[in-house]
Amino acid sequence: MLWCGWGDPAKARELPEQIRTLLHDLLGVRAPDTPAATMDEVRLPPVALPERVLAALVAATGPEHVLTSREARLRHTRGKSTPDLLRMRAGDGSDAPDAVVLPGSHDEVAELLRVCAAERVAVVPFGGGTSVVGGLVAARAGFTGVIALDLGRLDRLRSVDAESMVADFEPGVRAPEAERLLAAHGLTLGHFPQSFEYATLGGFAAARSSGQASAGYGRFDDMVVGLTLATPSGTLELGRAPKSAAGPDLRQLVLGSEGAFGVITSLRLRVRRQPAERRYEGWRFESFRAGTAAVRALAQEGPPPTVLRLSDETETMIGLARPDAIGGGDSGCLVILGVEGDWIGHRHAAAATVLSRHGGEPLGPEPGQAWEHGRFSAPYLRDSLLGAGATVETLETAGFWSNLPRLYDAVRLALLGALGSPLVMCHVSHVYETGASLYFTVVTPQKGDPVQQWERAKEAVNAAIVEAGGTISHHHGVGRDHRDAYAAELGPLGVGVLQAVKDRLDPAGILNPGVLVPQSPGGI
Ligand SMILES: Cc1cc2nc3c(=O)[nH]c(=O)nc-3n(C[C@H](O)[C@H](O)[C@H](O)COP(=O)(O)OP(=O)(O)OC[C@H]3O[C@@H](n4cnc5c(N)ncnc54)[C@H](O)[C@@H]3O)c2cc1C
Repeated sequence: MLWCGWGDPAKARELPEQIRTLLHDLLGVRAPDTPAATMDEVRLPPVALPERVLAALVAATGPEHVLTSREARLRHTRGKSTPDLLRMRAGDGSDAPDAVVLPGSHDEVAELLRVCAAERVAVVPFGGGTSVVGGLVAARAGFTGVIALDLGRLDRLRSVDAESMVADFEPGVRAPEAERLLAAHGLTLGHFPQSFEYATLGGFAAARSSGQASAGYGRFDDMVVGLTLATPSGTLELGRAPKSAAGPDLRQLVLGSEGAFGVITSLRLRVRRQPAERRYEGWRFESFRAGTAAVRALAQEGPPPTVLRLSDETETMIGLARPDAIGGGDSGCLVILGVEGDWIGHRHAAAATVLSRHGGEPLGPEPGQAWEHGRFSAPYLRDSLLGAGATVETLETAGFWSNLPRLYDAVRLALLGALGSPLVMCHVSHVYETGASLYFTVVTPQKGDPVQQWERAKEAVNAAIVEAGGTISHHHGVGRDHRDAYAAELGPLGVGVLQAVKDRLDPAGILNPGVLVPQSPGGI
């Protein structure tokens, strides 16, 4: 992973000339390219942990698994949101952990938590490091120091129960590796978020991730049937049956807890058979309104496809445009439909009937194949855009179908109000019988301090989402960036419940302080 940007450096993408032209003509971006700081140029605070504490960490996990090198610390500094990358590009390493610790077992995690609670060291569980909501930045005040607890050594598939169709994994397995290990058994998770190449199973569970095939396979939290949580107060083993009427489901309390309640050290996941065939194709609708009605009908009447996403007019135009058509054409709105598995012909025919009935025009396999081919490549353009003086960032929310138009308008208006004339694109990214998620991509010329510029816009959007009755996150999570809006969504009693859980599991408040819950009394 590129330490100050996204992805495999070998796949880094230059800005195509047509995008440079678009930036210049449509958005007025004229700045010369600015290179990112080199690793040596980043300003890094000295290691704050005393030798005594470092020795205790070494005793818990072995000397080769406690790293304090500049490179290790930088590679575990923040996540991969645009503000995270902008800060790193500007040479700001102020949020770096003091040390990176790599435990090799549940027991080592438990021992590290004991040491850190005793020494008042803040602990940031670290999976793939792809958080986009500030989930990897701990509040330092009141703590001896901060460690990143990298779960990368917990990377095994422990067992497969083919009869129950469940697999037991350690949390540090990255998504491609999980698919590779399951493929040997003819199985798949079917979880393909855009961060697929780097994110881990533990991170998916901790942040309630959702993949591009969620219409068919469900969200990641639908896949978790059991888990183990190491906490400073002991271990929770949850999930002894697929469903249970034995009281509230504590698994749901751990899912989405973003390292603030404990460290997930194992996951039992529902798996599916690998499909023999996959088919992706495009459909065109006159307008976003018409397309929304169609995907709603499909989500409600079924049978559900595997992939279903609808781009609004702007996203369709930018995504489909030939350079000579940009800004000019009436491209309508694009739906990507994906079906796979058994009865594929029947599923496809049923979906096609619903889409046709709502005015959809089939575009054939080409748009679907283009989408499939490029589904993980878009984030690679972000680094070049940032270097070229354009801020590009994504944000998402979800709401009930009846409220979706209001939510869509509210987010767009907030972005226009805060940024002037940005390019705002949106797609319906995940559908349910009762509602859907809206996923926005924003491109705007950098003005002044680009981090502050984006933070002001994000604040306006968060307020608009709360006001318009949407949820502050459908799949990115809460972190620090959504914490206050999440508190507004929950209300004071809800926040109090979260705080009580945190106090019971983490009395010293060492786990990811400042993330998810406003602030632990154990912290500051
Ligand atoms: C380019 C890009 C595209 C993305 N696309 C999607 C997408 O399509 N769908 C989607 O859902 N998300 C997406 N994300 C967001 C991100 O990938 C998800 O939030 C993912 O779940 C994070 O996994 P991770 O392993 O990288 O976790 P990290 O970023 O390392 O951690 C995320 C949070 O979980 C905590 N955590 C991690 N592991 C554990 C553990 N074992 N126990 C307890 N807490 C833990 C961390 O402390 C942190 O708070 C995208 C991000 C990027 C940068």
